[in-house]
Amino acid sequence: MTARILDGQALAAKMQEEMKPLVASFTGRHGRPPGLGIVLVGHDPASEVYVRNKVKAGTEAGFRVDLERLPESASLADVLARVDRLNRSDAHDGILVQSPLPKALGKGAEQRVFDTIAAEKDVDGFSAESAGLLVQNRPQLVACTPAGIIELLEREGIQIAGRRAVVIGRSDIVGKPMAMLLLHRDATVTICHSRTPNLADVCREADILVAAVGRAGLVTREFVKPGAVVIDVAINRVTDAGIAESLFPPGHRRLEQFRAKGSMLVGDVHPGVADVASALTPVPGGVGPLTITMLMRNTLKAAEGRLSARVEADL
Ligand code: NAP
Repeated sequence: MTARILDGQALAAKMQEEMKPLVASFTGRHGRPPGLGIVLVGHDPASEVYVRNKVKAGTEAGFRVDLERLPESASLADVLARVDRLNRSDAHDGILVQSPLPKALGKGAEQRVFDTIAAEKDVDGFSAESAGLLVQNRPQLVACTPAGIIELLEREGIQIAGRRAVVIGRSDIVGKPMAMLLLHRDATVTICHSRTPNLADVCREADILVAAVGRAGLVTREFVKPGAVVIDVAINRVTDAGIAESLFPPGHRRLEQFRAKGSMLVGDVHPGVADVASALTPVPGGVGPLTITMLMRNTLKAAEGRLSARVEADL
């Protein structure tokens, strides 16, 4: 069996096109585009890239996207004050604070900042209130990466209800919300983590296997039931030739590219899984592009939600 490739890049492009008239309609009705405020503290190189991509995608789709920079030396009070200002801004419907925050802000700072974002503007869905609403199956704004995976599964016609799903990873931003979304769609869900014994055996029970760990090639063929759908969330940058060679056979295009460049991006899923799974998301080009698209969709949803709430309040 050679797995069908679930093309997240193509779906993201389609969804961006679908969104454009909705954004234009919002702008026409309200005299302003839906607005997103992004707070970036410091100059983490990966965060700079992520934020640049978010600004570009949002602007191209017709949103107003404001990047609010704070210096590496900013205090927690500075960050909270910036979030508070965006909470009160009429022009901003969504707020995103780019993670990770500088370590100097201390343990717990990130969640404190996320929790300060007004729930109706929490387009990343990371606040305690957003997470709690999701657990109770009253989702408001849902974390973008798991929401994008559900969108992909549904649009690809992959049945969720009644199936066994295994999620590897229990982070607040991917693993847990992913498990909740699958559960609320009537899958029977198991969540695995670094202390799960017999990981491969547990994973082999899955009809839908989601890997969100951050370890290149962890999920080998032994983890996958024949015919399972495998979703690879991770983005791992490989610079070690030994790891690259363990993933791709000699002469493989990706290995040649690695040798030329000195690095490559891979997921948690070993390429050999394509011989066992029925469908598989590639890395890159799978889950990643959907995450930014879902951010835009959440911003549009937040904008529509805020303004309709205001109309109701005025009645
Ligand atoms: P994280 O917070 O580091 O969580 C990783 C999870 O994997 C933890 O729950 C950890 O278990 C578990 N784990 C670690 N080693 C394991 C092992 N050997 N066996 C089983 N479980 C193991 O990471 P995250 O933020 O959820 O992100 C996961 C991956 O997704 C990363 O590669 C990240 O770059 C990627 N990501 C991609 C997108 C996207 O848009 N595509 C978005 C977000 C994240 P413990 O809890 O026991 O430590």
